This record gives sequence, C-alpha cells and structure tokens, in this order.
Amino acid sequence: TRGTVIVGSGHAGSLAAVTLRRMGYDDPITLIGNENVVPYHRPPLSKGFLKRDNTDPTPLRAESAYTTAGITCLRGVEAAALDLDAKTVRLADGASISFDKAVLATGAVPRRPAVKGLEHDGVYTLRSASDARAVRKALQTARNAIVVGGGFIGFETAATITASGCPVTVVEIGSRVLTRGTSLTIAAHAQAHLERNGVQFYLGTGITAVIDRPGGGTTIVTSAGEMLHADLVVLGTGVVPDCRLAAAAGLACDDGILVDATLRTSHPDVFAIGDCARFDHWLTGGTVRLESVQNATDQARHAARAIIGSQEPYRAVPWFWSDIGDLKLQMVGLLGTADRQVLSGSMSEGNFSVYHFSGPRLVAVDSVNRPSDHMAARKLISAGYSPTVEEIITGQLPNLLRAG
Ligand code: FAD
Repeated sequence: TRGTVIVGSGHAGSLAAVTLRRMGYDDPITLIGNENVVPYHRPPLSKGFLKRDNTDPTPLRAESAYTTAGITCLRGVEAAALDLDAKTVRLADGASISFDKAVLATGAVPRRPAVKGLEHDGVYTLRSASDARAVRKALQTARNAIVVGGGFIGFETAATITASGCPVTVVEIGSRVLTRGTSLTIAAHAQAHLERNGVQFYLGTGITAVIDRPGGGTTIVTSAGEMLHADLVVLGTGVVPDCRLAAAAGLACDDGILVDATLRTSHPDVFAIGDCARFDHWLTGGTVRLESVQNATDQARHAARAIIGSQEPYRAVPWFWSDIGDLKLQMVGLLGTADRQVLSGSMSEGNFSVYHFSGPRLVAVDSVNRPSDHMAARKLISAGYSPTVEEIITGQLPNLLRAG
C-alpha cells in the first residue's frame, strides 16, 4: 500500500487522516480502528449520552467524508504488530499493510486498580461507546450508584447519574478531588456543586475489595473497612496510555509514547499523537501527556503538516473543558509549578476565574461559567503576556485580546 497508515481512529487519528488529505497529500491513507463504528465524539459519553435512550454516539464527521477523501477505513480491526524495519503494520487477521509514514493514535485504556473482585458484572469502565451503552443500560434499573475516583470522568458521571434520579456516592483515594488539571479552589467549588445535588463523598478512601451480592448488586469494601452497597459501580480511576503496539515494536515509551517537538517517535517515520503521546511542554518544561480533545486535534493537524514536510515545533496552548451537570469548567494552560493565584469574579455567584502564576509568569487560568475569561486567557498564554493583578480584577486586559 505505502502512503500513511494511522492506527487508532479516535479524535486524533481520524482528524489526522482527513487533514492530510485536505492539505493535498496524494498517497494512500489507511485509518485502522478497532472499534466497529464511525469515529465519534468521546466527551458526551459521560454527559448527555448516558441520559439518552438508544441513541448512537455522535460521529466526528459523516462517514462520506472519509470515502470522498479516498481514505481507506478499516473498522473493528486491531493493528497487532508494527514492524519498523519492514515498515509494515500487521493486522490481527494476518494481513499486512506497508507504509512510508505511520501515525500512532492509540489513545488510552481505563486504569483498573489492583483490587479483588473488580471483574464483577456490576462494575463498569467508561471509555468507549460500548462501555457507555452498558452503563446507560444498567442505569435504567439501578437504585443507587458508586463512582470510584473523583477526577473529571468521575465528576461528570456522578453529575449525570444523580440528575437521572439515582443517588450517587463518590469514593476518592486522595485527600481532594480533581487533582489533575485543576486548582483546589475550583475542585472544592465543583465538589460543593455535586454535594448540593445530593452526591455523597468519601475522600481519603480507597477500595480494597469488590463483592458480588447474591441478590444482585455489588458491595465495595473501603480502606476504612466500611461496606458500601450499590447496583451500579463506575470506575473513574484514570487511564493508561495505550503503548502496547509502540513498545512491542521497540519505540521509546515511558508512560506514553515519547515524541520530539515534531511529534516523531524514536523512529523518524513514525509519529504519535493524542492521549498516547508524551512530549516536552514549552509552557512548563518537563514532559507531559495530555488527555483532551484540544491536544488530540491540534497534534493531529501538526502531525499531518509534519508528514507533508513541515519542521515546525508543536506549540499549541493546552485547554480543556468539563461539564459537571450545569457547571461549566474551562481550563487553559498547565498548573505545573504555579505558586500564586489571583481570583476574578464571584465565587458565591458561581462565575469566576482563577489565574495561576509561576513567579511572574501566567501559566494557567481555570474558569467556572466564564467563557469570555477562558477565551481571553488562551490568547494571553499564547502571547506569553502575564497581566497584572489590577488588569485581571478590572478586566482591563491589553489590546492583544482585541486583535481577533
Ligand atoms: P481515543 O479517542 O481514545 O482514540 C484511540 C482509538 O484507537 C480508540 O478507538 C482505540 O480503540 C483505538 N486503538 C487503540 N489501539 C488500537 C490498535 N492496536 N488497533 C486499532 N485501533 C486501536 N476531553 C475534553 O477535552 N473535554 C471533555 O469534556 C472530555 N470528556 C471526556 C469524557 C469521556 C467519557 C472520555 C472517555 C474522555 C473525555 N475527554 C474529554 C478526553 C478525550 O475524549 C480524549 O482526550 C480524546 O478522545 C483523545 O483522543 P485520541 O484519538 O488520542 O484517543
């Protein structure tokens, strides 16, 4: 075949395919995905999708977009091995596809804590549309639910489940919630929001065993020795990057497939993008692996440009959103080494932003129900402009924000 082979048809892989074609790439493009569906939006799976009956996930683009672009889409097909010397991808059915360039966009898989009994029927993960369908079905009859993990997926899922009328308990091993990616101020605000909606929290509490109850339902044994019963248990315990193919091929991996500034792996003709890729971040230094739609899509576009010949380094401003029921959180930048915060807006009215500085430098802004702050902050961080406290509080931000 040759041309470009893309493994993984999630947000990153499918956009890389269509972008390459849009940029005038003429060679064959093969998009291999092990899910048997047209590539779809993952974020709704913990939000609206759980509430709707029998709907399919929302496609990222119409199926015809791939056909029109002449992209060969292999669905429900696992890429089983990558041979870097022969430059081929072997499929699970034994077929082999040769490539000039390969893009690994294999995403991440749910992290399953090493706890006895986790394989029981009433315990669900939430990553794919089929996972979400299973949770949705269980929710129809569940009288109560436990969400293990107080991260973004746990929070969104807890909000959706409680809104459907099913009481929820969140069990979180850490001493606070939303530890990764947001500040304590916002995390506490989001927790209080869920508590007002009836969600109960156990913080500093791990789970030590899961027991199948003979009459139906599940019992969770907590690290405090308490036994909590629920009909539905959802694991929101994070993900691990899917490096299996890359590592087996001998590509450098370390909690993610390691890529350089052009998103190339340790092999110059193989790129890695999205949730599976670990890279040096221009904003905070040090390596990061980001799990967001922004990161997946910006890296997809960047890899497409690199395949076509661009040597530009990847330098996008990271941002992320989360809808926790009707609470809209938007984060931009990376908290990294932030050591000073400035608050703007009203916490009591539930619309405010927290500006995070590392020394004199603005590195991140978290916003609650304040999309205009978020949009402005993206421009500030991109321009490397660090506003003064006065500029933040009065909202008198510089002209660069008006430049479009
Ligand atoms: P994925 O979308 O995971 O795609 C990877 C694909 O590769 C998968 O289909 C996988 O099955 C396939 N694959 C892996 N290995 C192989 C193989 N060997 N052969 C063939 N196929 C393979 N982000 C936000 O910014 N905001 C949100 O509100 C938000 N909400 C989310 C809610 C949920 C429930 C989840 C799960 C994620 C959410 N995210 C959100 C994160 C966002 O969806 C991910 O960051 C994004 O999907 C990453 O895209 P990706 O293409 O790197 O990986």
